[in-house]
Amino acid sequence: MSSILKSLSYSPGRFGPYGGRYVPETLMVPLFELERGYELAKSDPSFQARLADLLKNFAGRPTPLQFAERLTNKLGGPRIYLKREDLLHTGAHKINNAIGQGLLAVKMGKPRIVAETGAGQHGVASATVAAQLGLECTVYMGTDDMARQSPNVSRMRILGAKVVGVDSGSRTLKDAINEAMRDWVTNVRSTHYLLGSVLGAHPYPTMVRDFQSVIGREAREQILASEKRLPTHLFACVGGGSNAIGLFYHFLRDREVKMIGIEAGGRGTGSGEHAARLGAAQGFTGARPGVLHGTYTYVLQNEDGQISATHSISAGLDYPAIGPEHAWLADEKRAEYFAMSDNAALDAARLLCRSEGIIPALESAHALAGLIERLPSLHKNDLVILNLSGRGDKDMDTYSRLL
Ligand SMILES: *Cc1c(COP(=O)(O)O)cnc(C)c1O
Repeated sequence: MSSILKSLSYSPGRFGPYGGRYVPETLMVPLFELERGYELAKSDPSFQARLADLLKNFAGRPTPLQFAERLTNKLGGPRIYLKREDLLHTGAHKINNAIGQGLLAVKMGKPRIVAETGAGQHGVASATVAAQLGLECTVYMGTDDMARQSPNVSRMRILGAKVVGVDSGSRTLKDAINEAMRDWVTNVRSTHYLLGSVLGAHPYPTMVRDFQSVIGREAREQILASEKRLPTHLFACVGGGSNAIGLFYHFLRDREVKMIGIEAGGRGTGSGEHAARLGAAQGFTGARPGVLHGTYTYVLQNEDGQISATHSISAGLDYPAIGPEHAWLADEKRAEYFAMSDNAALDAARLLCRSEGIIPALESAHALAGLIERLPSLHKNDLVILNLSGRGDKDMDTYSRLL
């Protein structure tokens, strides 16, 4: 633990051996500029005031921390609270980070943002913030994803964003990220790259975590107000890991609080069937440390270092690398990670719909599935906070087909 604290406070951009800045030379200067711009924004009262105002009046913060009474009774174990990020504008936690980086673009004098998107949620959040702040916005999206997520493509276009289809590679998220980075290098004077999770080169993993840590800061105050004690367990799903670290961060120093991140177990343990980067103990194959999109972390790859295909029923968890801070927290055993299958997530989603009247995003349903899996080792006097990262509107096609 002391080494974690050291790493948190003394080596920016590194989480133990993970993180860093593995990019072509042309990107080093823009990354230094961004790091400097972000440092200035942190101590700029007018930036912080504008951020607080937009989080409150545009996005809808603070989000409630709701005691899930019927779910608690049904499961018969610990008291369960839901952090309701699903109630935010655009339907998920992604808006927290999009607002922060959008304001940073304005502060740095950049009139244009580029973003990448898989399922379209981050693209919609970026297009939304760009419209609110009067920025030009281009979103890169794999053409396969565009076909699968056409309502989100329409949303982005209605909001005034330009959506560019990416037809290379697997025509999904990782190819869209490559194109967005290429655009950024070419147009760096006018453009900020609004990255959607705790991934990429420094300062992104730290900056995105800071913007999302509002989740845990609120949750900590809220649970102390309602229960007069800290939670014993935190549960969150982990794609890149931004909603999870957003919840975890302000509890890292409370050693008695256990933190559990749930990855996508997909259809099985074989290569191409899952996105479980930290699931080796469960038999998930193919992950080891490597570099993807500028950061050193656990990456699903073959023996030659080629990036593996991944699968999850939830597009937001379907990515071959995990945020570097999670890699470090896993190595240090400060947080624990395991994967849940597509089917377990569907069952958990149905349970939440019927017991609480909340249709969750498929990503968030993985977190609930993980809690259900853990029930036998939890006690009645344990206290759980589960991060409900988003709402299920975007997943209605999948739900109507499969539930
Ligand atoms: C994108 C997304 C995720 C996964 O991203 P993280 O960076 O891991 O949080 C999880 N839940 C929802 C609702 C999402 O839209």
